[in-house]
Amino acid sequence: MRIAVPAETQGAETRVAVTPETVRKFIGLGADVAVEKGAGLASGITDGEYEAAGAKLAGSAAEALAGADIVLKVRRPAESEIAGLPAGALVVGIMDPYGSEAQVEALAKANVSAFAMEFMPRITRAQVMDVLSSQANLAGYRAVVDGAAEYGRALPMMMTAAGTVPAAKIFIMGVGVAGLQAIATARRMGAIVTATDVRPATKEQVESLGAKFLAVEDEEFKQAQTAGGYAKEMSKEYQAKQAELTASHIAKQDIVITTALIPGRPAPKLISAAMVESMKPGSVIVDLAVERGGNCELAKPGEVVTTANGVKIVGHLNVPGRLPATSSSLYAKNLFAFVETLIDKAEKKLAVNWEDELVKATCLTKDGTVIHPNFAAKA
Ligand code: NAD
Repeated sequence: MRIAVPAETQGAETRVAVTPETVRKFIGLGADVAVEKGAGLASGITDGEYEAAGAKLAGSAAEALAGADIVLKVRRPAESEIAGLPAGALVVGIMDPYGSEAQVEALAKANVSAFAMEFMPRITRAQVMDVLSSQANLAGYRAVVDGAAEYGRALPMMMTAAGTVPAAKIFIMGVGVAGLQAIATARRMGAIVTATDVRPATKEQVESLGAKFLAVEDEEFKQAQTAGGYAKEMSKEYQAKQAELTASHIAKQDIVITTALIPGRPAPKLISAAMVESMKPGSVIVDLAVERGGNCELAKPGEVVTTANGVKIVGHLNVPGRLPATSSSLYAKNLFAFVETLIDKAEKKLAVNWEDELVKATCLTKDGTVIHPNFAAKA
């Protein structure tokens, strides 16, 4: 059983799919692990550390991939990489398939079984495999660090001989995994924190972290959470009431961090150009939803925009990748926990149970066809 880890090919990707720790664990399951030279460098992992863990170093992606049964990736293989994947191999990573149906079809044509880690069901058994949570948690932390770095003042209140520095006011919009970590981080750094969401369950979570909750709590709010635990898209009327409530609050904030997402829909627009204009010079918005269209009307993907009134709008891409050593370490553990379930430990060989709900939920392609229900019809 051979596992291949080619280097990520997208220039901006700093993460890597295995760490020396997970290499050791895979070897413990009877696998040979081939890692392309330099694959871990952006995450601070040297070739020597992989080698010391028992991995074989490969001089090229092709050399790593030769004869592989399992290919571990952070991102979906690029078109240029697909031809090099061994037919019949399992390819596991964040596949980001929506809007990339042609690439999913190409993976099927290459006769690999591609698994999308982000489709892992959010059930107790799969918590350890939940890449959305492991990465969103770090993004929430990093958003506060990035916001603090752009903010020209200190976050905690300081009483010094030279005078008192007031605590910064930070507002978190969207309290899922990323937002909760942003609240906790901002509180630890001494800010005065408020937060909003449309799901009623978040009120108690916000308050338990010592922040103040602010939301339009009408009848629609009471029904805003889907059975899956996600937010619904709110009506135009609700959005107008929400904007009215948050506008005066945003005007008083030093840092606003937005994380609001709705599954399968563009990110809701929560901060208008007029709201940005109402903010004080030097204040900062960090838009974590920028890759899904942005929560702030003026956010630009991959840029830090400074507006005419001196507000900075941070739109970094791949925020978990801005903490590559930590995000790789957690991502690699998520991958190991899943891939372990595809291996027969006694026989030390691949043994995929195609009826397992985790396999069914994540498998996009198999035996030359697109099999995932969300994509099969379109292919
Ligand atoms: P997400 O990334 O889809 O969305 C982020 C947040 O934005 C959500 O809290 C959502 O309610 C909020 N939002 C959406 N529209 C909004 C609007 N118009 N205004 C303000 N906020 C808005 O969410 P997530 O972080 O993936 O978490 C979704 C749910 O999944 C949560 O209930 C979370 O507790 C749950 N979860 C469960 C597990 C598990 O059981 N294994 C693991 C992780 C998350």
